[in-house]
Amino acid sequence: MLAYIGLGSNLNNPKQQIKDAVMALHAFEDVEVVNLSSLYQSPPVDGSKQPDYINAMVQVKTHLTALELLHVCQAIETQQHRVREKKWGARTIDLDIITYGVQVVASKQLVVPHPEMMNRAFVLIPLAELEDDLKVPVLGPIQDLIAKLGDYELTKL
Ligand code: ATP
Ligand code: CA
Ligand code: CA
Repeated sequence: MLAYIGLGSNLNNPKQQIKDAVMALHAFEDVEVVNLSSLYQSPPVDGSKQPDYINAMVQVKTHLTALELLHVCQAIETQQHRVREKKWGARTIDLDIITYGVQVVASKQLVVPHPEMMNRAFVLIPLAELEDDLKVPVLGPIQDLIAKLGDYELTKL
């Protein structure tokens, strides 16, 4: 299975946090990072007073189920000392499963494709960098989703 995982950080040397998380993903048995986007910088989504975010996208190859892959993501968040504070608060690292092949998942723990992806330039633009003709399950072609984004601030680093 090929899946996309979006990474984000805005605390404690975000670029290093992203690199560490990519290395940690790759080090997991049965998770192979096959592609990595550029790093992107953007202001926090809720306009709150917290540092800018650094985001990136990876494509992974795995035989794990989507839920097992989520648990891997959560283990890496814990390993990198993510503290769960308020929703959308500053964090050392966040790993979200964006797509998992063509599979659609809607459970209490996991929703795939990621339910906010179509609203987020910091997800769509790095994803399109890796696969510009991707057809996102349920949501449609990535280029159509990008065309529907409103104004956004996103800098490719
Ligand atoms: P958002 O999901 O809007 O990006 P967030 O990443 O800050 O917000 P978290 O606190 O990291 O939210 O995650 C809350 C819960 O979301 C997790 O415990 C997880 O079970 C659930 N979740 C649902 N779908 C996904 C997904 N596709 N990837 C990662 N977590 C998910
Ligand atoms: Ca997130
Ligand atoms: Ca998350």
